[in-house]
Amino acid sequence: MGQNVITNDFSWSKSRHEKFSGCRRAYFLHYYGSWGGWENGASEEARQLFTLKRLANRFNWAGNVVHAHIRDVLRNIQAERAVEGEAVLRRAHQQMQRDWLYSRNKSYWDEGKRRPDFTGLVEHEYDEPIPAEEWKRNWHTVEQGLRWFLASPWIERARALKPQQWLEVDEGAQKSNFDMQGVKVFAIPDFVFRDESGRITVVDWKTGQMREGYEDQVVGYALYLAHRYRVPPESVRCLLVFVNQGQEVEVRIDQPTVERYRLLFEESVRAMQALLLNAAQNVPADAAEFPKTEDLTECARCAFRRACGREHVTYAALEAERSRAPAPAQLTASAA
Ligand code: SF4
Repeated sequence: MGQNVITNDFSWSKSRHEKFSGCRRAYFLHYYGSWGGWENGASEEARQLFTLKRLANRFNWAGNVVHAHIRDVLRNIQAERAVEGEAVLRRAHQQMQRDWLYSRNKSYWDEGKRRPDFTGLVEHEYDEPIPAEEWKRNWHTVEQGLRWFLASPWIERARALKPQQWLEVDEGAQKSNFDMQGVKVFAIPDFVFRDESGRITVVDWKTGQMREGYEDQVVGYALYLAHRYRVPPESVRCLLVFVNQGQEVEVRIDQPTVERYRLLFEESVRAMQALLLNAAQNVPADAAEFPKTEDLTECARCAFRRACGREHVTYAALEAERSRAPAPAQLTASAA
């Protein structure tokens, strides 16, 4: 009987591009150095890198909890099950309390305690002194986002959908990918449905503020949906919904936006593949060809600090250093 062998095939996604742009070394460690770290015979280095790469920071964690609970609410509505808002909030809070303890105890290093739904926090891994108020603020972000969603028109919009109008609720990477110039591109939308007229709408829930790169992300969704449902990408309606601000932003997809995405994709793939020794088999050059970033704010949110000898680079440490540095006027004065 044949074995199901997982191979490290080259693929592309917006998040891969961002990792590559942020720090070449982080990109190498994430996509190559940690590869196979889950296997029994993995080297100690790969095993460690694999555990580190799965750590989130507290802001990603809050976003993930909001996404997971919105997904569950939508799936319950689709299955015509009752949704009780306060129960959703209670479950989210209890989950975060469990997650926090699990992370604080660094249980993610214990293979017997590994959880598929939560993999620990960088703040605990690097013993960052985060005040209790800050952790509470993180919960309030989640609570605020979920409360807005549960009271928003999205609940009634979802309830009004007929079974054939539901297309996707966070399907995962297995399904949500498409081929672009021979490269597998991943784009996993949060919620996709057809409106009354049959037009496809894709919704991306956001817990933060609008930032650069979000628009390209939804162009990727439109291309994926165009491929999967055989419609022109320009016909897909794309909505960014900011649950903590209660705002919806529609991103128009037209020929220039699709073209800009294609150029970004081509340039990004070219730069990534230039660092491969063997492009067909996705074999990377030596780690030294993937330099560490000089931007320490990248390091402050990076899970691979230990691998780089930058364990002590935290936002608090950078802030303290900045406040100790003399202002330019003082420098001039002392020089005089
Ligand atoms: S710690 Fe800094 S240099 Fe090292 S991988 Fe992370 S971002 Fe790159």
